[in-house]
Amino acid sequence: MQVQFYVRMACGRCLEEPLAWLAREVSAVQCCCTWIFVMEFEVLGIGDAFTSLYYNTSFLIRSNRLYLVDAPQALFRLLRERNIDPGAVNDVIITHIHGDHTSGLETLILWKKYVQKRRLTLYASQSVYRQLCKKFFPRFAETFSPHLQKIIVLKFEDYVDYFKLRSNGVTRLDHNLWIEIRENWHPTPTLGLKVSGPLKTIGISGDTCYRPSLLKRLRENGTLSEMRYEKLAGNWLWSADVIYHDAARAEPTSHTLEKDLLALPEGIRKKIRLVHISDDFAEGELKVAREGEMVTF
Ligand SMILES: [Zn+2]
Repeated sequence: MQVQFYVRMACGRCLEEPLAWLAREVSAVQCCCTWIFVMEFEVLGIGDAFTSLYYNTSFLIRSNRLYLVDAPQALFRLLRERNIDPGAVNDVIITHIHGDHTSGLETLILWKKYVQKRRLTLYASQSVYRQLCKKFFPRFAETFSPHLQKIIVLKFEDYVDYFKLRSNGVTRLDHNLWIEIRENWHPTPTLGLKVSGPLKTIGISGDTCYRPSLLKRLRENGTLSEMRYEKLAGNWLWSADVIYHDAARAEPTSHTLEKDLLALPEGIRKKIRLVHISDDFAEGELKVAREGEMVTF
């Protein structure tokens, strides 16, 4: 649990360096006349669906609560290795239902309900939540009835609370934490995210195929609305201060090819950290994120 005391700093612009090490010890710093609450963003995993070298791509937001972004395989082992108490993780943002993003969710939900006697709150768009209810939940629902002699039809809502992320505009998660979503181009409803704190905005591409020529074609044939196209092909994600982007080198893929990211202007390329990479992905011009790296925002 975060220690609740405050530190007075001189000026907001000077805060970023000291905050990097202060973030673990304090809950807020004071800048000029306002309190700035310290938040931290941690990269938990950078691997793709088939990795045996990394954890699947996932993140942790440390605000006044801990928000897990996706639930990879071997989640409890990962949390233990990073000294994160699973009992303190009660909030999970799910980008989509593919196994490498939800494999750890079933265990976490069941552990909460039957061991910790708590409820998990899931954050997702309505389209992603619908997929969780229809496709993810039935996989384990009826095998864990507490009354073994009876057939009890449990609903997903018996296990979790749902917090809807707005499709348009910004959703406030807690006092200084804001989130914006977009609907990605991926085989199942999938979210890209922008997470904002007082200091920075962090972009998470989510699983998506950023390919300008393809997106343009999809816009022209009416598959993508103007607004969705703008978020996928325009400046929506690139306006973030740090961008965690999925990347692949080989086709066919429903992910983003590295060469399409390399074609972006230098100012954007410098903000990108690659995630969702294969085990044989060697770092090139674009930086690969490191598991355990943190950004104070
Ligand atoms: Zn996926």
